[in-house]
Amino acid sequence: MTSALSEQHAHSPSILLVEDVDFNREIIALLLGGQGWRIVSAESGEAAIAILNKDRDFQLILMDLGLPGMDGFAVCREMRADPLLADVPILFLTAKIKDEDKIVGFNAGADDYLCKPFNIDELILRLRAILRRARKHARLQQGREGVEAQLPIIHEVSLLESRPNGRSNEKYRISIGDYILDTRSYELITPSHGKIRLTPVQYELLHHLMCHPGEIFSPGRLLDEVWDYPSDTGSPDLVRVHIKNLRERIEEDPRTPTFIRTVPGYGYTVGLEFEIR
Ligand code: CA
Repeated sequence: MTSALSEQHAHSPSILLVEDVDFNREIIALLLGGQGWRIVSAESGEAAIAILNKDRDFQLILMDLGLPGMDGFAVCREMRADPLLADVPILFLTAKIKDEDKIVGFNAGADDYLCKPFNIDELILRLRAILRRARKHARLQQGREGVEAQLPIIHEVSLLESRPNGRSNEKYRISIGDYILDTRSYELITPSHGKIRLTPVQYELLHHLMCHPGEIFSPGRLLDEVWDYPSDTGSPDLVRVHIKNLRERIEEDPRTPTFIRTVPGYGYTVGLEFEIR
C-alpha cells in the first residue's frame, strides 16, 4: 500500500508523521493521505531519523512530542543541526503544554504546536498553511541566489532607516535602531547579545515586523501574515509565546522590552520612536 501511495503522490508534498501510538498514527495517516499528500509514518524518534537519513524529500514533519526513547525535541534539534533538514517545518502534536516547554520547542526549531485532542480539519488547515509558507520560503531562497528578490522590501525600510556604509551586502540588511537583520544568514545583530541565529519561524516573524516599522500588528494579523493561517486557525497564544521567546533572546531586559514593544489592546510593533507605557 505504501509504494502504491508513493507512486500515486509522486509530485505531492511529502509529510513525515512521527507518532508512537499505532491507532493514532494509522488514523492520522489515513485522513491526511485523503488530502493527496504522501504520508510516511515512523513509530519513534529513532525511526524518524533513520528515514530522514535516507529520504530528505519531506516538506513537513508532523510529530508527537512524547515519544519513547528519543523525544520530539531531540529529533527537532538533530534536524535543525543538519543543513539539509534545517528548514523543514515541524508541527508538534502534544497534550496540554506549558509556555516554558513550548519555548524549549521553539528554540529547538519547532514551528507550531497542536494540542491533543485536536480537530482533524484544524490540523489540515494548519498543515496547508505551513506547506504554503514553506513553498514561499523556498522561492525566496532560490531568488536570493540569483537576483535580489527581496530588494523592494528592503528598499522600503532603508528609506526609513538609512544607514549607508558603502558595503555591498548592505542591501541584504534591515536595520532598525541598533538591531540589524541579515536576510541571507538569518542572523540578527543585537546591541546586548551580539549575533544571534534565528530559527526559520523567528526569522520570518521578526523580518515581517522589521519590514513594517512603527506598524502595530495584532496576534491575529501576525497569524495571518506570518504563519499564513486562515482566520480562526491557530491560536494567538502561538504568537504570544514566540514573541516572549524572541524577547528572551534579543532584548537586553526581556521584562521591559525596548525593541519588540507591546501596545496594550492592539498588539506588537518594532521601530516606534515614542515611549509606550
Ligand atoms: Ca506519544
